Amino acid sequence: MDKAEILAKFSADPDKYYKVNLFEEQDYQRKACPTCGRFFWTIDANRNYCPEDSDDTYSFIGDPPTLKRFDYSQAWNEIELFFTKNGHTSVNRYPVVCRWRDDLYFTIASIVDFQRVMGSKVVFEFPANPIIVPQPCLRFKDLENVGITGRHFSSFCMIGQLSIPNEQGYWKDECIDLDFRLLTNQFGINKNEIVFVEDVWEGGGSFGSSLEYYVKGLELGNAVFTEFQGELGNHTVLDQKIIDMGAGLERFAWITMGTPTAYDCCFGPITEKLIDKVGIDIEPDLLSQYFIEIAKNQEKYPNILEVKNHAIANVGLDQQKVLQGINPLEGIYLIVDHIRTLIFAISDGALPSNVGGGYNLRIVLRRMIGTMQRLGLKLDLNEMIDMHIDYLKAMYPELEEKRADVKTIISVESKRYEESKIRMKKIAINLKAKKHVLNVNDLIRMYESDGITPDYLKELDIIPEIPPTFYSKLSELHQTVNTKQKEKIPLENTAETELLFYGDDPREFEAEVLGSFDKYVVLDKTSFYARGGGQEPDHGTISGFEVVDVNKHGNVVVHELKDGIPKEGETVHCIVNSKRREGITKHHTSTHILNSSARNILGSWIWQNSAFKEEDHARLDITHHSALTEEQVKKIEESANKIVQKDMKVTIENFDRGTAEQKYGFRIYQGGVVPVKSVRIVSIEDFDVEACGGTHVKKTKEIDLIKITRTKRIQDGVVRLEFVAGPAAQEYVKTHEADLAKQTAEATAKEERDNLRDQKKAESRLKIPSLIEQIKETKTGTTTIDEIEVTTADAVRFCCTTSEQYDEYFHINFGEKLIKADPQALYCGIFEAGPTLRTIVYAGEFSKNRNADAIAKAVSEILGGFGGGNNRFAQGGGKNKSKKDEAIKKAKQMVFE
Ligand SMILES: [Zn+2]
Ligand SMILES: [Zn+2]
Repeated sequence: MDKAEILAKFSADPDKYYKVNLFEEQDYQRKACPTCGRFFWTIDANRNYCPEDSDDTYSFIGDPPTLKRFDYSQAWNEIELFFTKNGHTSVNRYPVVCRWRDDLYFTIASIVDFQRVMGSKVVFEFPANPIIVPQPCLRFKDLENVGITGRHFSSFCMIGQLSIPNEQGYWKDECIDLDFRLLTNQFGINKNEIVFVEDVWEGGGSFGSSLEYYVKGLELGNAVFTEFQGELGNHTVLDQKIIDMGAGLERFAWITMGTPTAYDCCFGPITEKLIDKVGIDIEPDLLSQYFIEIAKNQEKYPNILEVKNHAIANVGLDQQKVLQGINPLEGIYLIVDHIRTLIFAISDGALPSNVGGGYNLRIVLRRMIGTMQRLGLKLDLNEMIDMHIDYLKAMYPELEEKRADVKTIISVESKRYEESKIRMKKIAINLKAKKHVLNVNDLIRMYESDGITPDYLKELDIIPEIPPTFYSKLSELHQTVNTKQKEKIPLENTAETELLFYGDDPREFEAEVLGSFDKYVVLDKTSFYARGGGQEPDHGTISGFEVVDVNKHGNVVVHELKDGIPKEGETVHCIVNSKRREGITKHHTSTHILNSSARNILGSWIWQNSAFKEEDHARLDITHHSALTEEQVKKIEESANKIVQKDMKVTIENFDRGTAEQKYGFRIYQGGVVPVKSVRIVSIEDFDVEACGGTHVKKTKEIDLIKITRTKRIQDGVVRLEFVAGPAAQEYVKTHEADLAKQTAEATAKEERDNLRDQKKAESRLKIPSLIEQIKETKTGTTTIDEIEVTTADAVRFCCTTSEQYDEYFHINFGEKLIKADPQALYCGIFEAGPTLRTIVYAGEFSKNRNADAIAKAVSEILGGFGGGNNRFAQGGGKNKSKKDEAIKKAKQMVFE
């Protein structure tokens, strides 16, 4: 649908779509802007242009229109006070990680808190009516503007003023009346300054008129009246109309402060502290002028760099002021913004990574560090985290609990960035040498494939400027989740299946066949659990035919059979395989136990990423930044088994979704979004509470034992735990114990062998002196002493042995000592070393043929290998174990030739 078309239609009938009581009471005039043509409502007779095209645009900078000054949290206090005084319930913020919608990673608007997706429809569930909520929202599409424009944030607080028009709630008249009084009575803004601009909003198949309200050119809020659905001209009125007024808290603070940028007043004392620390050299007046120029001209130029250059020229800033004033200041603004975004996201359980929503968090973190390094700003990340949480905890006390976890994750992720820079540097140097001109798509490709940020390339002078569209283009690629479509089987006219496994759960039952086709059967009721939530389906028999798979299509359970199917209309006897079901059930409850155990041991960022439960094994994928250590795995397993031993009660209750969320928080969505109004809550006393449709044991002791068999980092930010529970765990322990016993036996045998060898070595060592004494006394001829053959002739004595009792240690020590004691002697020892034979040769006095080197070479050649050394000592060997004697014979021959 075309927004302009809707706006034209609505503005053609302003009495119907825009005129509210307040306009009449306060004598508001409707005018059309000569510049942009938009219609607006004002009390000021002299105002002829819309707020964005007026001369007073952004004139609140340096000259705020209020007497009171409110910073970020004070501004919220004023707003909350005003709306609660006027019958609104103040609701705590929802997580910034949007666990209740599978089409969004992050909460992008306050209304999202109360939207639930049912099929293709979005429904609203309000915990009260009317509501006021200070909802932090994460948006990454304007990243290039953050720090530069004075008003763009990667996360901001959207005040949601929400109402359903019924006995409690209100519609347009009261909404605009409240907003007008908020600005005039609570904030003290002169009513002449308040301008309403006609606009429309459309999305998700519904649409309505809206009134944006401005003060001095700054849009403070937008009241959307969602009331229609369908196509324009062919539309109908919604059953549930909604007032969705969203206002930027940052802007409320800014307009009362009149600081050069919103960043100066929305981070508590942090911005100023950092500015003092870094030392920015620029006059406040010049800054105000500069940022007014930026704000006014933002839409006039194609990109933010050009806007900036024009502002610099128009204000007349010299190069010095830009380099030592504007640039580092923008860096500080960016850093303070980015780290606040990370604090909210990590507190709510998100991790920076290269997949899904984590992608944008990694970009933000790397950009922040890159900016610090590029500008040479020495800032302590932990100190900044502390300052933010100290300031924010009055408004968001839950951040305090996560202080340590936020620091852990940011530190892990910063280190990872530093490590990756080593690789980045190599690639970058290469690029520099090639002198390629890189466009924004090249840069995106480089970030996607190698994690190289443009900040880093700029730091190395490889690119002159970061393309202004880089970050927005990149984050667009990773904005929303792609939801996959399930394959459809034609079942339009089939009645929904009664699910017996949620009731008495009989393992044998009679049912009527409502449909049968190919290999599929649909019954009127079933106790066969259909595959879902990572739990594998039940097996068994229907009318004697084997059930091999069970799936849910909408509310119809489809059984897949093997070797035949019963006929439609038949009454069939069904048997669920109990052993399989029990195995799966134990693994399922164990998944819940392990998930909470892992969170308790590792940190609050642990969420179930996915899970799989079979009869004899299961796996649980958790969100974690690094691979697990053995120690951590042991602790998780111990903690899980403690819960098993405590025999905790597992309770299953159905709640209205909103009630469950309020009672237990969003932790219940470990298994993802629940697309029904009534959620099934499975709680293991107060240890673990999850929304889950699976089958569970009644008490944890039924599980008996949980064993983690393997863990593995399967992707960035996700670790897999493979485990077994119940009988499968006992089986695992048994085989594992058998393996252990075998390993122990082998180790003992090896130890015995080693001991024996050591003993032999010691004995041989003792034997050497006496052997040598005996050998020295031998006369001409051949004799054998302790398996060493000694031949003495022509003033030469040759000793050799192939005895298995001598090892390398002996040969070396014996040979060495023998030729020292008897310089006439030569020695050749051959021994087995694993698959080969080795030889050690010593020669006391030597000649051309009669030397250790020549003998070792000749012997080794016969043994089928190589040898060598010097005249005195040489060694070698080969594989021909049968040629031992031949080799010795050759050695002897060489000595006595
Ligand atoms: Zn205009
Ligand atoms: Zn579950």
